Amino acid sequence: MSSLLTITATWTVASEIAFVADTPLEFDVVIVGAGIIGLSIAHRLLCTTNLSVALVDAARPCAGATGAGQGYVWLGHRTPDTMAWNLARRSKYLWEDLAQGLQAMGLDPLVTLGFKKTGSLLFGTSSEDALALEKTTEALCKGGVQAEFLNSAALKDVEPQLYVGAKGSAILTPNDCQIDAQLAASYILGEIQKYCPSGRFQEFFDEPAVNFLWASQIRGIQTNRREIYCNKNLVMAAGAWSGQLMQSIFNRLSLPHVLATKPRKGHLLVLEGLSKISLKHGLMEYAYKGLEESSVIAGIASTATVDAKGRVLLGSSRQFVGFDFNLQYDVMENILKKAAVYLPALANLHLSEALNDGSVRVGHRPYVPDGRPMIGEVAGLEGLLLATGHEGEGLSLALGTAEMIVNLILEEEEPVVDPSPFSPTGRLVPSRVNIS
Ligand SMILES: Cc1cc2nc3c(=O)[nH]c(=O)nc-3n(C[C@H](O)[C@H](O)[C@H](O)COP(=O)(O)OP(=O)(O)OC[C@H]3O[C@@H](n4cnc5c(N)ncnc54)[C@H](O)[C@@H]3O)c2cc1C
Repeated sequence: MSSLLTITATWTVASEIAFVADTPLEFDVVIVGAGIIGLSIAHRLLCTTNLSVALVDAARPCAGATGAGQGYVWLGHRTPDTMAWNLARRSKYLWEDLAQGLQAMGLDPLVTLGFKKTGSLLFGTSSEDALALEKTTEALCKGGVQAEFLNSAALKDVEPQLYVGAKGSAILTPNDCQIDAQLAASYILGEIQKYCPSGRFQEFFDEPAVNFLWASQIRGIQTNRREIYCNKNLVMAAGAWSGQLMQSIFNRLSLPHVLATKPRKGHLLVLEGLSKISLKHGLMEYAYKGLEESSVIAGIASTATVDAKGRVLLGSSRQFVGFDFNLQYDVMENILKKAAVYLPALANLHLSEALNDGSVRVGHRPYVPDGRPMIGEVAGLEGLLLATGHEGEGLSLALGTAEMIVNLILEEEEPVVDPSPFSPTGRLVPSRVNIS
């Protein structure tokens, strides 16, 4: 083991490296990050292969973006024939399949995963929105998704509390569904923990990965307490933190790359006891699709769902302010104000009153500049697979991503979904930094 090169992440607290255990641990696959992506990969590996798995997290599942997520598992806001379309369809199918499997075992998917087939409404207010929504409806139908364009009058019947004005319209996608990210993560964790007694699974929580272990290929990871070796693969699923963690190995091996993930902060209001709001569908403002370039100032596009516990979830903001966990009163106020435009029943609700019984979630979506998750091997880093960059769609894409990663680990010749659009090859940003 002494011939292994230890590569220290630049953001490591050096004193933490002192506690390396005597006996190194070995697993087939080591996953860094126990958000919804890391958990789902561990679950898929344990359920469908004989490989052993270690799951490492700096904190605990749901400490990252996953804990803040709203839970859409939708196709209605997507466009067929885009690069992520097949992955999104497959992933939605896998969530539905999981829910059905639970039902068949006598468990309620609503209680276990927060899974509900509510259908979705992607709504707009202007004539321009209506044209675009009508076009997208046609494309969805051609792509094999049941979808219907509704004008303002028809929308009133379908979702009486939603106000979009006379020129408003929406796409109704009746088979869209939602999960509760925290319930789903907790269910998946419980399932993978069943593999602990056999020795096939071990979790290492509250143990940040601080170093990569390298000897002509990735050999494992060092946490602040021990070395954990991988026989086959290391999977980097540390969400918005993945880029800074990867930088140490790029630098040390003089690979001229940057994995340009950055945190895109989001707020979500969780309102309890709001009996005046009764929604039949998940709601999303059409402008959500256009919020690609929001900056330090929070861009807000309205979303609304009712979760498994009957709480009203109002989203959401997007801004680039680094890893800032502070609650921003102005952002929360704007989310509520904007929601009240579409849901007039909220008009007289003040934020302080809303927060009496409610709460706020803040998370950092793992953003990548080209808007496509990075799933696959990095050239020059044999054995290391990325599974990150899911930005605002990591919950919906989690099960499809997990299947894709397992297909890659097993070197399946005919993977269920073609992974090539997600390959990191050619998508890493050139770096001028070389501190090796
Ligand atoms: C307000 C909001 C609403 C959202 N709504 C939706 C939605 O409706 N539908 C949807 O599909 N998506 C939604 N998302 C996006 C979704 O939550 C994310 O895409 C998804 O959670 C990303 O999962 P992840 O596992 O990649 O990252 P994370 O959940 O962030 O997990 C990364 C993990 O890595 C760990 N970590 C960090 N550094 C280290 C280290 N050095 N060593 C070990 N572990 C480390 C962290 O502790 C964390 O647990 C929403 C996000 C936000 C913020």
